[in-house]
Amino acid sequence: MYTPSNNRRPSRGRSFGGQSSSNRRSGGPKNHKQNINPSRFIKPATAFVDEVYTSEHSFDDFAMHPLLKKNIATKGYITPSPIQDKAIPHGLMGKDVLGIANTGTGKTAAFALPVLHKLLEQPGSRVLIIAPTRELAEQIEDECRSFAKGSGLFGVLLIGGASMTNQLRDLKKKPEIVIGTPGRIKDHVERGTLSLSTFNLVVLDEVDRMVDMGFIADIRYLLGGIPEVRQSLFFSATIEPKIAQLINTFLIDPITISVRTSETSDNVEQDVVYYSGRDDRIDKLHDVLNSAKDGKVLIFDETKFGVERLGNELVQRGFKADALHGGKSQSQRQRALKRFRTNDINVLVATDVAARGIDVADITHVINYATPNTYEDYVHRIGRAGRAGRTGTALTFISR
Ligand code: AMP
Repeated sequence: MYTPSNNRRPSRGRSFGGQSSSNRRSGGPKNHKQNINPSRFIKPATAFVDEVYTSEHSFDDFAMHPLLKKNIATKGYITPSPIQDKAIPHGLMGKDVLGIANTGTGKTAAFALPVLHKLLEQPGSRVLIIAPTRELAEQIEDECRSFAKGSGLFGVLLIGGASMTNQLRDLKKKPEIVIGTPGRIKDHVERGTLSLSTFNLVVLDEVDRMVDMGFIADIRYLLGGIPEVRQSLFFSATIEPKIAQLINTFLIDPITISVRTSETSDNVEQDVVYYSGRDDRIDKLHDVLNSAKDGKVLIFDETKFGVERLGNELVQRGFKADALHGGKSQSQRQRALKRFRTNDINVLVATDVAARGIDVADITHVINYATPNTYEDYVHRIGRAGRAGRTGTALTFISR
């Protein structure tokens, strides 16, 4: 179905210049550990019923700039996904859109294409795209870059962490496309290096995650600074009360489109692995990984330190593994993700926060080496397996 594109990270040529980040709140919400009954981690997969969606449009049907159509074809997109099919026509007409959709639905193109069309058709337009994590912001940047190839549009990625020098340099060039995480974007606004009054388009991606991560005040601040005469496109997997409030305040007469896939991960086989003591735990993991040699395995552990140590131990045991956590530099994180996406490694150990927003559609196994803090976290974690119509496996390690 909608698998990640392989043309990762083309040369940074016409900027869309990238930086690294440290969301000030990258620690995420500090949930207390719930005592979740292990029986909730056991559930057989139910057969995946592939809902056949017949799209109403082809990409050619959309009243969209020819360059975008050409680049879509080059990317190999043939049929619009449901969210694209339904959202793009409204987006192109300049309507505010609320997309209720999660990762893997093709939501990025659903907002990027109408936005890029407007940038090409109405010179002087400018878009601010806000995403919860560095990784997601980078993925959006990659998509925009490939859609906008040859357009002369200029973009900047404002994510925190590393030096501001390149971001400041790129911002001076007045990029039409500004993509970033809330904290770093706000930093630039406060420094006076980015003026919100220059935007007439705004996209919020994964609003629910941003709210989860404590960014709601920053989002309100940013949206409040953008002129009211604008087009706004919001995407969220859920509409909790706080999000509904944001929508009511900041969207005008939006078209709502829902294509959310089930968050219950019905097509994930869920089971537990009991262990007694540290050695038994790692040995059991070893066995699981041996039996999943042909799969792509995402392992969750608790702390940066734990993730790093487990990643190293698995490498020593001969597995093609790497670790992803907030203690790594941006380039190390990018490298780990890229290796995982391109099958250079098939095991990635991560913290919950570092794993947010990773768009890897072909993960076969999610292993909770440490139990999640909440059942909701559990559902988020295992939802990463069994995407795009495949059956996945989730195993949760429980101490006897
Ligand atoms: P997203 O939900 O935007 O993260 O997209 C998930 C994946 O599907 C990405 O790797 C996209 O490149 C891919 N994708 C999005 N739309 C299409 C399409 N119409 N045809 C084929 N692949 C797509």
